[in-house]
Amino acid sequence: MDNLEKNKNHRSILCWTVFMAVVLSVTICLQLYIWTAEREINLQSLSVVAPAPKPIKVEKKVFGYSVKGNLIEGYEIGYGKEAILLMGAIHGNEVGSAYLLNRLVSEIKSNVKIISKNKRIIIIPVVNPDGYNIQQKFNANGVNLNLNFNTTGWANYGPQGTYAGPKPFSEPESQIVKKIVERYRPIMMISYHTAGGIVSPEEGGPSAILGKWYAQKTGYEYYDDAAAAADNVDWNFPGTSTMWFTRTTGKPAITVELSQIDQGDWDINKTALMGIVSSSTNI
Ligand SMILES: [Zn+2]
Repeated sequence: MDNLEKNKNHRSILCWTVFMAVVLSVTICLQLYIWTAEREINLQSLSVVAPAPKPIKVEKKVFGYSVKGNLIEGYEIGYGKEAILLMGAIHGNEVGSAYLLNRLVSEIKSNVKIISKNKRIIIIPVVNPDGYNIQQKFNANGVNLNLNFNTTGWANYGPQGTYAGPKPFSEPESQIVKKIVERYRPIMMISYHTAGGIVSPEEGGPSAILGKWYAQKTGYEYYDDAAAAADNVDWNFPGTSTMWFTRTTGKPAITVELSQIDQGDWDINKTALMGIVSSSTNI
């Protein structure tokens, strides 16, 4: 091997060694960088303490005032996105519906943890306090509030000849229900009445599903349009809160008629109601 050849070999070995050294250094630096970055991320994630879940409260609210200036009170419970509206005594003499919803509120108060994280329960035990105070079906203007909501076919007098008001939403009580629906955007509405022991769904599949589920949980009769037609009853009154709700929001609504005018039927309804407010329901 001549000198020229030897020099060439030495140079290529040197070049190769330098190259390997550079590659190794870059790899080590990169790895160190990754370790440091990962450590920082880990430290950061450790330093962010997850916020404690907000304790659920039963908030009593004044939603508005009746014709006579009586408070229309209700409860807002939970912080979830899925609001559920439960209301009673839109007909003031149907006191059982108010008893039931007030009982539900006290049951929830004794165990607020039952409220599902994704739910916000809005309960108005007495929509019509002026009527309720004197055991009268209508409000202080003599209006059947459950005919005062704006639907197609609305008329001043309902099918049974009761006064629906000078125009839809003429009454403060129905305006308040409208405002609550606009504010909370409930995913379902249940309006409690007495007496009949039935569950009556609004039109459409979601209301039928909810109605059948509620009827199955309570044992009340599932009473849809077909059942009413078989009984020769015109049940589909324009202007009801539930009809307006379903047609306006596309969400399910049912009317539940408790078995007695002055009975809350708690034992009958508790499984359904506790299912609705908790996460155990799968309607
Ligand atoms: Zn009623």
